[in-house]
Amino acid sequence: MAFDLPPLPYDMNALEPYISAQTMSFHYGKHHKTYVDNLNKLIAGTHFENMPLEEIIRKTAGKSEYTAIFNNAAQAWNHNFFWNSMQPNGGGEPTGEMKKKLIRDFGGYENFRAEFANAATGQFGSGWAWLVEDEANGKFKVIKTANADTPIAHGLKPILTVDVWEHAYYLDYQNRRADFVNAYLDHLVKWN
Ligand code: MN
Repeated sequence: MAFDLPPLPYDMNALEPYISAQTMSFHYGKHHKTYVDNLNKLIAGTHFENMPLEEIIRKTAGKSEYTAIFNNAAQAWNHNFFWNSMQPNGGGEPTGEMKKKLIRDFGGYENFRAEFANAATGQFGSGWAWLVEDEANGKFKVIKTANADTPIAHGLKPILTVDVWEHAYYLDYQNRRADFVNAYLDHLVKWN
């Protein structure tokens, strides 16, 4: 069994002008696809071959002999979650239960927004910023992870993520990561 590249939940140009079709075609069509292709090559003929993606991630996390499998599996998972963290005409403040949870755990949307933007712009080098639910106590919190690292390797349930590897924004924003993060928060976030 091999993993397929999951379909994008919208057209390549659906997130313009905030993320261009050119960025999407490289980021989804080249970067994300390469992680899936590399994972398939690495697990072919191993005991990981028929495992669900999340199980591969949990079983390889922190094990030096499985670094390449972990990196490609986690990046395959993270990118699919990232595409599904966004929608056209998204962003801004959530309503309903999500709004209540942000009030409960951050004191309100503006505090959440500041903390998330700070994590995303403050991640040194490649990585991700996340809103997660801690499965131990049900509380929401903001974290950042480096490179391929993913909350699902740490008992945390992802709610939202933004990719802050340079390949996510360089064609559209060059070195202005903060502008990309603001566009994500104000125009793209998909609150479920
Ligand atoms: Mn990426």
